[in-house]
Amino acid sequence: MRQSKKLGQCFLKDKNFVKKAINRAEITNKDVVLELGLGEGALTKELAKIAKKVYVIELDERLKPFADEITSEFENVEIIWSDALKVDLKNLGFNKIVANLPYQISSPITFKFLDVDFETAVLMYQYEFAKRMAGKPDTKEYSRLSVAVQYNADVEFICKVPPSAFSPKPDVNSAIVKLTKREPKYFVKDEKFFKKVLKAMFQHRNRTIKRALIDSSHEIEIDRDNLKEILEKVESEFDFSERVFKTSPEKIGYLSNLLYDEI
Ligand code: SAM
Repeated sequence: MRQSKKLGQCFLKDKNFVKKAINRAEITNKDVVLELGLGEGALTKELAKIAKKVYVIELDERLKPFADEITSEFENVEIIWSDALKVDLKNLGFNKIVANLPYQISSPITFKFLDVDFETAVLMYQYEFAKRMAGKPDTKEYSRLSVAVQYNADVEFICKVPPSAFSPKPDVNSAIVKLTKREPKYFVKDEKFFKKVLKAMFQHRNRTIKRALIDSSHEIEIDRDNLKEILEKVESEFDFSERVFKTSPEKIGYLSNLLYDEI
């Protein structure tokens, strides 16, 4: 079978990373695991040996021979032939996620995962993306993605994975990340508005918060002059002179609530 670049088909060959991902997910025979992307089943087989049940979502039906081999050996594996972005994850009832993700859908699939209940997810991403997910304020990796993912999950960067661990070898480095789902640590009045504020701010991560917001007022759908007036009104309650890349997620949450009350 010719592997599809479009579907991110770089299959994991190095068993050490398979083991590492499964160990860090702490899979037991009580766990119902969701895997995205069967490939040739490198992760699936090892998950099936330990977990109570494994759901695998796979888009490419050319991989059916691998699926048939696995499902005839393991009764606890169920393959869902579909685009993972279109599957309703809420009704599957898994508690852990383990996957070597197709990197093209890293962002939408991560936010789809974060929208449902799970305990832990051990996921493989492109290295730079993983670093940004785990980014802390005042580092070069701190980004809109860091704040959005860390809103309701703890992110632990586990290790870098070289191209030689896959076949075919990708052009980029990869990394394993562990997400632990939790309640948000700060209160946000309106999550949609919070995400708009986040987008506006990080379009200009090196500028002051005030400058960034004014220059991207369209992202929060407030007329520029109107926004200037609002910022002046609440200036005593917030330090708008801080640089965006230094501003903690909690402060961004507070700012979003402050602006939300004024619009
Ligand atoms: N788990 C295997 C491994 O580690 O070797 C395969 C990982 S490979 C990086 C990604 C897999 O996701 C491929 O099998 C690909 O066909 C599948 N895939 C790509 N886009 C998908 C989508 N939108 N929904 C479901 N599966 C998808």
